[in-house]
Amino acid sequence: MDPDYMSQLYDQVDINSVFGGSRTIVSSPYGDRPSLGDWHEGIDVVHLGRGGTQWGDLITYGKDLVVESIGRQAGYGNTFSASFKSSLMDIEGNAQLFFGHARAAQGLKVGDVVRAGERLGTLSNPGGLKPHLHLELRINFSTGPVKVNPMMLFK
Ligand SMILES: [Zn+2]
Repeated sequence: MDPDYMSQLYDQVDINSVFGGSRTIVSSPYGDRPSLGDWHEGIDVVHLGRGGTQWGDLITYGKDLVVESIGRQAGYGNTFSASFKSSLMDIEGNAQLFFGHARAAQGLKVGDVVRAGERLGTLSNPGGLKPHLHLELRINFSTGPVKVNPMMLFK
């Protein structure tokens, strides 16, 4: 598919925008992980900025998001999710980014709009893991949510 079309479809953002502009890489990809014997339902990302990735680091995003949930989930510790608007697909509220090992910013509540580049939250240590953000893209169909590869959101 034409990459320009893809970029409009998903309103792709710079992956570095996840950590406030710090150079960001995928430390564990979506899908089958033979070495771990599991199916990774999202991607793990880390940044290479000053001192490397640490629990407590700031989480941002390159476009406006609406907070959909704030809570905790087994295996992830603190979590939050947020939806986004697409210019070509009517998916507002139906496509959500799920942030695992991540605490929503103080004072943030469901329904709040967080502008591109503003503080969404911070990395939060669930115990026993190296610091990273677990990021999922969940598309909600009438039959239920499907977790797809979030890399399509990034350029
Ligand atoms: Zn993960």
